[in-house]
Amino acid sequence: GSQTKNVKSDDVLHKYMKIIVQPPEEEDCCICCEKLSVASGYGEGTPEDFVIIQLDKCSHMFHRLCLFAMYENGHKNDHLQCPTCKTIYGEKQGNCPRGIMEYNFIQESLPGYEGYETIQINYTIQSGIQGPEHPHPGKRFSARAFPRIGFLPANERGKKILLMLIIAWKRRLTFTIGSSTTTGEPDTVTWNEIHHKTELGSNFSGHGYPDPKYLDNVTMELAIHGITEADI
Ligand code: NAD
Ligand code: ZN
Ligand code: ZN
Repeated sequence: GSQTKNVKSDDVLHKYMKIIVQPPEEEDCCICCEKLSVASGYGEGTPEDFVIIQLDKCSHMFHRLCLFAMYENGHKNDHLQCPTCKTIYGEKQGNCPRGIMEYNFIQESLPGYEGYETIQINYTIQSGIQGPEHPHPGKRFSARAFPRIGFLPANERGKKILLMLIIAWKRRLTFTIGSSTTTGEPDTVTWNEIHHKTELGSNFSGHGYPDPKYLDNVTMELAIHGITEADI
């Protein structure tokens, strides 16, 4: 029955929630659009259809059945995202191919960060065969324009962001495999929603300095992937 089927996600998900005995009468479950005080819209006529849970950090409430069904139909990669507010529970893992991340400090300053050294990050990924976590398992993927290089100011903020980018790399979130929007090539390694500044002393591509908003923006992008200063 459903009890056995859900054992695995039960283990992962129950860490992040508690069961609510008397849910607010008028509030809806935003997954099935039914009231929390009535059965889940995806229920099968068992008592389980009425169980309401509340997520720990954001306090949003759902039918347990609805939230577990959403998780089962998603990536199931050990993290849960609140469908209402996008708060992440657990660690989001990506599918970045294996490779090398290295960094070093260089003396040249970035426009807008005069007086500071610069952190240079090098990513090296080689072409290979896609794994089961990729869009076309067994098929080749290309890796163009590697090593790719990103720059950060070596101030306190930049050093913290470096540490968060290292966490992103370990969780395989920095790159992914798909079609490049720049070149249109399918099955290739592309940047994955955590923007890097790839130009040091210029800004021809729009991915250079000066950009006074960059450190805020990349901090936000890391947070969307579940990485904050608290993880450092
Ligand atoms: P993409 O074009 O699919 O875009 C993915 C993300 O990367 C987007 O968020 C985009 O804003 C960002 N992005 C695009 N250009 C960037 C740049 N120059 N620096 C930093 N971020 C950038 O991603 P992609 O296929 O990984 O392409 C990224 C860059 O790599 C492009 O500038 C492209 O010209 C270059 N590239 C070069 C070759 C080559 O053979 N020389 C091949 C592929 C990509
Ligand atoms: Zn529901
Ligand atoms: Zn929430």
